[in-house]
Amino acid sequence: MRSELLVLVLVVGAAGKPLSRAQTDGKKLLLVSFDGFRWDYDQDVDTPNMDQLVQDGVKAKYVTPPFLTMTSPSHFTTITGRWVEDHEVVHNMMFNTTTNLKVPHKKTLTRSEWWDNGPLPLWITAQNQGLKTASYYFPGGGANYGGQSVNRVLVEESGHPDDNETEWRQNIDTVMSWFAEEDFDLVTLYYGEPDNVGHAKGPDHPDRKQIIRQIDRTIGYLREAIGRHGLNDSLNVIITSDHGMTTVKKRPEVDEIILNKYLNLLQLASFEILDYGGFGILTPRPGKEQEVYDALSNAPNLTVYRKHQMPQSFHLAHSQRLPPIVVVADLGFNLNSRFIVYVNKGDHGYHNGEMDMKMIFRAFGPSFRRNLLFPPFDSIHTYPLMCKLLGIQPALHNGSLSVTQSMLLPHDGSKQLRVSSVLLLISILRMFFS
Ligand SMILES: [Zn+2]
Repeated sequence: MRSELLVLVLVVGAAGKPLSRAQTDGKKLLLVSFDGFRWDYDQDVDTPNMDQLVQDGVKAKYVTPPFLTMTSPSHFTTITGRWVEDHEVVHNMMFNTTTNLKVPHKKTLTRSEWWDNGPLPLWITAQNQGLKTASYYFPGGGANYGGQSVNRVLVEESGHPDDNETEWRQNIDTVMSWFAEEDFDLVTLYYGEPDNVGHAKGPDHPDRKQIIRQIDRTIGYLREAIGRHGLNDSLNVIITSDHGMTTVKKRPEVDEIILNKYLNLLQLASFEILDYGGFGILTPRPGKEQEVYDALSNAPNLTVYRKHQMPQSFHLAHSQRLPPIVVVADLGFNLNSRFIVYVNKGDHGYHNGEMDMKMIFRAFGPSFRRNLLFPPFDSIHTYPLMCKLLGIQPALHNGSLSVTQSMLLPHDGSKQLRVSSVLLLISILRMFFS
């Protein structure tokens, strides 16, 4: 009895005491996101630097974004490890269905009331465990969480050009100096391309291949900069995205969707965001929900959902923020409310099961295996991997480290040694007391 108690105290004591970072394999981490980098964009372009990454690190075949394949919702899932229904960043636009407020994406980036809904992003969780973090243009980085801000934040302003290669390199130099000279532990770096080119020209346009070559040169520059700053042994890097891109179908090939042909929007809805790619939301006027649902059910090339009846796999049904009706267009169709106002040749926001919505994942650095082709996984599992790489305790999340952990090298042994010493001590005590 007494020995069991002692063993119990010993084990609880060992498990309960937080490890210092020196005791874990915590290293520095750079998370890079290229907005709208579809999983297969490197397959029809010469990308020597990305090819080299396959030899020097991990390449997942593709990664599946959360159901809401949009910039802010997907980035926030990556950085919180929470489904969209939990983190509640349910659109690129901030909105209020009661006041009819609608704030465009770039203007939301410093609006904490849009981002701060309880779940803590990685920056804050890491800072609370003693790490130093920064966000360079990364969505969500500009908000405060429970009054806490990210240690260093740069927020991209509306109208800022996204495609300046010289600036891309300067941003890398800045981030490298943060790691090397100011001892930052985690930096998230966001690039607005190839999303812009994908929207403006379409994913099959030669300009999309051009921007992928530019991204490849930038990745080459990044690797060179890591070496120049002496960070090869201490910095892990994950390069990923938020969603893919598909070609928008237009007349005369298809009959484009104009929702007002199927229901009188002014009479039946009190709030709507419909002219925004393949994902639409609306609030029916009181007593009109069934009428709206029935009318939209008859419209071709889209699926209408009552929010609470959305499939569990969407992880949206429990959102408080989403309006009661959600409309998802078939791949390549855009949702137009009254007129066709969009000019996009490419778009996203479609079902995350569509291959065109899948995105890239590459990783390299001292903790990653080399020359590893990794099976596809959901982006939600990137969060626990990042916590593991930083050597911190994750906050509550929906991912699983068991999905992504095998892309890491076996542990360096210090932790295993610690566990085996505890086990050895337990056996000695057992012998002693029995
Ligand atoms: Zn986009």
